[in-house]
Amino acid sequence: MMLLPDEKRMNVRSDRYLLLQAIAPCLQCSQPTSVFCLGLLPGHERRLEDQWASENCEALLFYVECLSKQVLSLVRELAPGLRLDFSAETNGEYWLNHCQHCGALREDHDLHCEPDGAFLPTGADDAGRIQKVAIQEPLSALAAGFSEAPSFFASMQTVA
Ligand SMILES: [Zn+2]
Repeated sequence: MMLLPDEKRMNVRSDRYLLLQAIAPCLQCSQPTSVFCLGLLPGHERRLEDQWASENCEALLFYVECLSKQVLSLVRELAPGLRLDFSAETNGEYWLNHCQHCGALREDHDLHCEPDGAFLPTGADDAGRIQKVAIQEPLSALAAGFSEAPSFFASMQTVA
């Protein structure tokens, strides 16, 4: 198989994945806006150095720097607020959420690493406000952040 140059940099791959969506107030204009992230099911693989290893837990990806073409087109269609952009926080580019009203950036740290973050639910009710859509297509990506075995994953709402 011919690999695109970017494919060699990827550190995670799977034959299926999830698109997660939550609603969070924008930090700039305060209006509620959709935020997105990608999720993986048990059986996905991660590359450590040159070895691919199968992971038996769910995981959410953040600080995603690179996505395979197929995922790119799906994200453009279903999650238009998620776009490659420059982050002052990481001093580099990654797939950042943007407010659908004012375009303000939302850093992954806020969404994935803070206790009240949109993708870090503190209870089942909280998790029930997160929607997950199952995508039966392969994914490969380069991600710097992995939230392994996320809490209340089962309480997140499955749509479609
Ligand atoms: Zn806004």
